[in-house]
Amino acid sequence: MHIGRFAPSPTGPLHFGSLVAAVASYCDAKSRGGKWLLRIEDVDQTRKMAGASEEIIHTLEHYGFVWDDEITYQSQRTALYEEALNRLRDKHLAYPCTCSRKEIADSSSIHGIEGAIYPGTCLSHPIKHDFPAAWRLKTKESLITFQDLFQGRIQHNMAREIGDFVIKRSDGLYSYQLAVVVDDAMQGVTHVVRGADLLNSTTRQIYLQQLLGYPTPVYAHIPLVLNADGQKLSKQTLADSLPKDEVIATLLKAFRFLPNLPTHPPAFKTLPDLWQWALDNWQPFDSVW
Ligand code: GLU
Ligand code: ZN
Repeated sequence: MHIGRFAPSPTGPLHFGSLVAAVASYCDAKSRGGKWLLRIEDVDQTRKMAGASEEIIHTLEHYGFVWDDEITYQSQRTALYEEALNRLRDKHLAYPCTCSRKEIADSSSIHGIEGAIYPGTCLSHPIKHDFPAAWRLKTKESLITFQDLFQGRIQHNMAREIGDFVIKRSDGLYSYQLAVVVDDAMQGVTHVVRGADLLNSTTRQIYLQQLLGYPTPVYAHIPLVLNADGQKLSKQTLADSLPKDEVIATLLKAFRFLPNLPTHPPAFKTLPDLWQWALDNWQPFDSVW
C-alpha cells in the first residue's frame, strides 16, 4: 500500500508553497490508489499559532483535499517519542547535554552543513547540575546516502557533516527530527513528498530510522516556491495565506509548478472535475525528472 502524508506545522495559515507540497504528495498517493494522511506537526508548542491548525484543516477541505484516517496531532503523541528516546538511551546512543548555544559556538571549530558541529563536550565532561538537559544523538562516521526522486543522490557523513544533534530539547519538547521519524514509521508512510527546505534533514531521519529499526520511505523533495526577491515563502517573508475564492485558479497555478501534470489543462467548472483530471493525468516523479 502506498501511503503518503502532508504534515504542516501550525505556525500560520497555509501559503502557496505549502499548497504545492500538499498537491504533490496528494496526487502522488491518490493517483496510485494510495492513502494520504494529514498530520498536524504541533510538537513545537512554542511556535504554534492559536487557531492555525483549524484554519489549515479548513483550507485543505475548502480546496477539495480528502485525507484518509483520523488527523493526527504530534502534541498527542509524546508517549511514542519518549519510547523511542528511551530505546536510544538504552542502547547508549543518546546522551544529555547542558551546553548553552554560546558555549557550543565558542567551543566548536568545525562547521557542518548546518553551522557549528557540536564538539561532544557533554560526552567527555560531567553535565552541569540543576541545568535542564537536552538529549543528543551520538553520531558515528556513517555515510548515509539516499536517492531523492527530485534532487538525485544525497549523501552525508553523519559525524563530520551533521554532528550529534538534539532529539529532545532542554525545554522538554521532542525535536522535529525524532517526532517525524517516529510518526512516519508508526503511520506506515511509504512515500514522503515535501519541500526542498527539508532535504538536509533527511539523512538525519534515515539515520534515526536505522537506529530504531524502522524502514526508510521513498523521498521526493520538490523545489521551493520563491517570492519575487528569491526568498522561500513563509510566515517570516509574509507569504499571503491562500485565497478563499479563486480556488480553481489557485490550484491550477500550483499544478503549473509541478512537472508531473500537462501544462494545458482543460477548463474546469467544478473542483471535483479538476481533482479527477489531476489524478488521471499525474505522472510519477521518476518519469518526469
Ligand atoms: N512540519 C514540517 C513543515 O511544515 C514538514 C515536515 C515534513 O514534511 O517532514 O515544514
Ligand atoms: Zn553539551
